[in-house]
Amino acid sequence: MSKRRCLYEVLELEKGADDEKIKLSYRKLAMQWHPDRNAGNPDAEPRFREVTEAYEVLRDQDKRKRYDRYGFPGIEATEGANSGGQGSIFDIFNDLFGGSGGRPQRNSGEDIQIETLIDLAEAAKGITRKIKVPRSESCGDCSGSGCKPGTKKTKCRKCDGQGAVLQGQGFFRIQRACPSCGGAGQTIADPCRNCGGKGTRPVQQEVEVKIPPGVDDGVSLRLTGYGEAAPARGTPGDLYVLIRVRKHPFYQRDGTDLICEVPFSFAQAALGDSLELPCILGDPVKLEIPAGLQSMEVLRVPGRGMPNLRGGRPGDLLVQMRLETPRKLTTKQLELFKELKVLEDKHPQSQTKGFFEKIKNFFAGSPDTPKPE
Ligand SMILES: [Zn+2]
Ligand SMILES: [Zn+2]
Repeated sequence: MSKRRCLYEVLELEKGADDEKIKLSYRKLAMQWHPDRNAGNPDAEPRFREVTEAYEVLRDQDKRKRYDRYGFPGIEATEGANSGGQGSIFDIFNDLFGGSGGRPQRNSGEDIQIETLIDLAEAAKGITRKIKVPRSESCGDCSGSGCKPGTKKTKCRKCDGQGAVLQGQGFFRIQRACPSCGGAGQTIADPCRNCGGKGTRPVQQEVEVKIPPGVDDGVSLRLTGYGEAAPARGTPGDLYVLIRVRKHPFYQRDGTDLICEVPFSFAQAALGDSLELPCILGDPVKLEIPAGLQSMEVLRVPGRGMPNLRGGRPGDLLVQMRLETPRKLTTKQLELFKELKVLEDKHPQSQTKGFFEKIKNFFAGSPDTPKPE
């Protein structure tokens, strides 16, 4: 390797230059040496490359630190990994000057999102679902290259294999992806018959999705590598399975808690009772209605809600007790309620009595009743 000039020297900077100075200096030098502005000058491209590579190190805090400390050996390891020739120096240049193009940066397939609808009980227990995913797979005949087996891609003539063309007017032009090869730099002369040169083929793949217990509506599960195949031999994208949970007729969910409403009668309210409530998960819950329970009071059953997706303790079951007034009475009930009414008139319940006294006093303007402000 030829001896390299100090990066600060290349960018005409002092060692302690701040980010803004580095950027400004690079901007000036990159404009000065851009191959497009120096037609016929063989020095231009190496100089452009030199300033861009220097900038690539100095704009990155981490690389700059390593360079300051160890010199070139400090940055060589990472340089090898991404010094991809023309493409990458123009990428850096485009980052700063805007414009797009050059080689596609990531060689991985698109992600796919798919929805699946489950019941609340399935969400509570967890379930394994088989889902048909329309995706693309790398073509087996050409191993994803898109070329007829035994043939190879050829250099794109339009961009001379660069993957990019310069567009625009005036002295400064912007680099764009080559329209002929789509930025790949290569074209297929003899396409693979099986995939028509795309390198991928559509398939309906059955994917087994493990839906964990406690999953909530709107949770997205990621299945790595089940997305679209990538061109050539890149990594396929991921599959995201969006979980939708069907509404339950009796149970609603609030975080990990489950809420349900249970009606109860005057007699149960007055005397107390015990009943069994069927549950989404496990045995029915035994509910004790204490005598004197009021309407809309909530009975909490610890640990009988939804399982915790993250493995903590499960939620609670919250039973909202709704006192139900009978709409129709049998003759016998009517008789008994009338009897009860006579008794109540003689001995009103403490709260009822207290309430009517308070409201009467309020409207009478009694001095010891606080008025609203
Ligand atoms: Zn093929
Ligand atoms: Zn091209």
